[in-house]
Amino acid sequence: MARIIDGKALAAEIRTDIKDEVDMLKEDKGLAPGLAVVLVGNDPASEVYVRMKKKGCDEMGIVSFEHKLSEDTTEEDLLKLVDSLNKDKKVNGILVQLPLPLHIDEEKVINRIDPIKDVDGFHPTNVGKIVIGDENCFYPCTPYGVQEMIVRNVEDLKGKHLVVVGRSNIVGKPVANMMIQKSERANCIVTVCHTATKDIGYYTSQADILVVAAGRPGTITADMVKEGAVVIDVGTNRIPHPDDPEKMKLVGDVDFEAVSKKASAITPVPGGVGPMTITMLLANTVKACRIQNDEE
Ligand code: NAP
Repeated sequence: MARIIDGKALAAEIRTDIKDEVDMLKEDKGLAPGLAVVLVGNDPASEVYVRMKKKGCDEMGIVSFEHKLSEDTTEEDLLKLVDSLNKDKKVNGILVQLPLPLHIDEEKVINRIDPIKDVDGFHPTNVGKIVIGDENCFYPCTPYGVQEMIVRNVEDLKGKHLVVVGRSNIVGKPVANMMIQKSERANCIVTVCHTATKDIGYYTSQADILVVAAGRPGTITADMVKEGAVVIDVGTNRIPHPDDPEKMKLVGDVDFEAVSKKASAITPVPGGVGPMTITMLLANTVKACRIQNDEE
């Protein structure tokens, strides 16, 4: 039976380190890391994420600056706000909550954020740095959390076969780009599967480490997993609750029950990758504060 990789417990452990670091920056250097979170419109899921990010900042002693803009905010006004946050010395990290309303070009907004404040890790400069292996960058939060889980659960990563299912710019591609690097936190042989992959099981069943980010429940069944593999399930899908169709249930992309009998370690959904994402955002904000004050 697989060991459960407890994302909540791991996130709590990392948050203790972040809090210590924030306290130290305050006491020794007089620095207070600051994160600006920009929300445009009233998307309920985005509102929840923004609240959770603010709560995380408060708990760590990170100063948060919330900018709630109306749904009809123009692209020009949003870009002006990003420009002013880029200049604001109290703001070390800028996060524009996605998705943005359709009349705003997301790419244009992301590209306007100063890369040294891009704590979401989506700016092309940070994407490029990840590809070339320049660690002086910001890793996107979910892939960063996935890497942290892998590093803490696989003894020697060198030469391990890591298979990623999914190639989005948010999860699949950065996970692949990070785990292929020649570093102690990576050095894997990486295979990426997607919808054009004819027989996914052929690849996934060779994986020592399997990262699944397809956004489809039941993508990975037990016959597609190697005995003893470490399985990281990034998927978050809401399906009707089997016991009460009126309610919804959160599930991953992996058949957890069956796969946990074969894997050596596995992340649950909920309680796996999810809690890591905001924690890594907080870690990136502290890193941003250090970089901007020449403390790195
Ligand atoms: P996405 O943009 O929809 O990308 C999904 C990727 O999976 C695509 O590359 C797609 O291939 C591939 N794919 C879809 N179905 C597949 C299948 N049956 N077999 C093989 N490949 C398949 O999704 P995303 O943003 O990467 O997110 C993936 C999942 O992670 C979602 O459930 C999302 O909610 C979750 N997520 C969780 C967190 C967290 O904090 N826990 C954060 C981000 C995302 P093509 O490229 O060929 O279309």
